[in-house]
Amino acid sequence: MNKRSWAEPFKIKMVEPLRMTTPDEREAAIAGAGFNTFLLRSEDVYIDLLTDSGTSAMSDRQWAGLMLGDEAYAGSVNYYHLEDAVHRYYGYKHLIPTHQGRGAEHILSRMMIKPGDVVPGNMYFTTTRAHQELAGGRFVDIIGDAAHDVTSTEPFKGNVDLKKLQAVIDTYGPSKIPYVNLQCCVNMAGGQPVSMENIAAVGALCHRHGIKVMLDATRAVENAYFIKVREPGYAKKSIEEILREICSHTDGCTNSAKKDSLVNIGGFLCVNDDALAEEARNMVVLFEGLHTYGGLAGRDMEVMAIGIAESVQYDHIRARIGQVEYLGGLLEKAGVPIIRPIGGHGVFLDALKFLPHIPRDQFPAQALAAALYVESGVRTMERGAVSAGRDPDTRQNIFPKLELVRLTIPRRVYTQAHMDVTAESIITLFEEPERVVGLRFTSEPKYLRFFQARFEPTQGDLVLNRSAKAGAASAR
Ligand SMILES: *Cc1c(COP(=O)(O)O)cnc(C)c1O
Repeated sequence: MNKRSWAEPFKIKMVEPLRMTTPDEREAAIAGAGFNTFLLRSEDVYIDLLTDSGTSAMSDRQWAGLMLGDEAYAGSVNYYHLEDAVHRYYGYKHLIPTHQGRGAEHILSRMMIKPGDVVPGNMYFTTTRAHQELAGGRFVDIIGDAAHDVTSTEPFKGNVDLKKLQAVIDTYGPSKIPYVNLQCCVNMAGGQPVSMENIAAVGALCHRHGIKVMLDATRAVENAYFIKVREPGYAKKSIEEILREICSHTDGCTNSAKKDSLVNIGGFLCVNDDALAEEARNMVVLFEGLHTYGGLAGRDMEVMAIGIAESVQYDHIRARIGQVEYLGGLLEKAGVPIIRPIGGHGVFLDALKFLPHIPRDQFPAQALAAALYVESGVRTMERGAVSAGRDPDTRQNIFPKLELVRLTIPRRVYTQAHMDVTAESIITLFEEPERVVGLRFTSEPKYLRFFQARFEPTQGDLVLNRSAKAGAASAR
């Protein structure tokens, strides 16, 4: 039996000291942040699992690459390095760099969606849906039911339900569907992958009706790893080969390079169609910058090219997902309700099971994220009703089936001991859940409200009452 652990394929060359805080300091900090972990200052955070977006550690080669930035306004050599990397690993014909993923989503949505169109996708993503709606379109969910079911342990819970896709095509007709948005390792479902079989079937069905498939490639490398280890026939293929095969079934992609591609900022749009590429290049000049930099410095494009090549190394991706599975395993062993199978980029707590005493309109996941910060200085985020926002027609709160707290693991940043501390503090809360208090809005932004909303506890001033069991421990 192979007993080798997922141990990191790197050693640490430079360290960034962290500040330890007291529970009193954290109570004051979370109240000052309106009980929204997005509004905390990072210097008040011990272990930051808010997001894996742009928070990865760069390699020594990437840092060296920064010095090779060619900051010419037009035709930077780094643009051509990035283009080579995208051609080689993703395989699309045309590359349009953007400042990050939503820049690519903005251009794609504006260029392809007309008012009244519908855009089917395997579960919504916040920025993706917002840009579809701003362009006058409407998102329609075509993900399989398993994705909404916290008890399902299917290996590819991100899969599109082909019957739902066919029904959308039958109802609206291909002329109302500018493209199907196919997301890899579906973020809002807990990082759940899509199988190659499903990707191929979606491509074939859409292409039969003359509908394009645009991949959200943000987590396609993590998805490729799951295909390799879970899908029959792929064990011997390299991550690189699997990634190319995923992309080959689609007509283009948007990508946030802040995730898989191991950079702190950057993204891109790719299309195979020449006319669409020309339109995207016209548009990128208006919103991002010239088509050979798209809102990025030359050095940013250089580190992205290097990061893409590093991201498809098997040892890297195995350790990245191995660390996520390690944290999930600790929580599972303690009986903490998490989404299974454990996803690619984080562990998701089921807040409805964790805090059954808090009603949904008091936002249990938002409260749990705030309470966990007070308990331990670990920062996480809500993925539930606050993130889901309001129905565009009725303006009522949307209450999705999933009410989750996301523990997202930055790549190559934290150690196994950090994962242990995180698990210990969650398990402590899980033993006395009634200490956590529900929240209500005190201010609610119109767009993507979860980023900047403020709240207050529904009773008293605290989101987490001091432990009855360990009164003395609060002096820690
Ligand atoms: C992060 C993300 C985006 C948006 O990318 P940004 O770089 O944050 O603008 C889009 N889709 C998915 C699946 C993501 O995870």
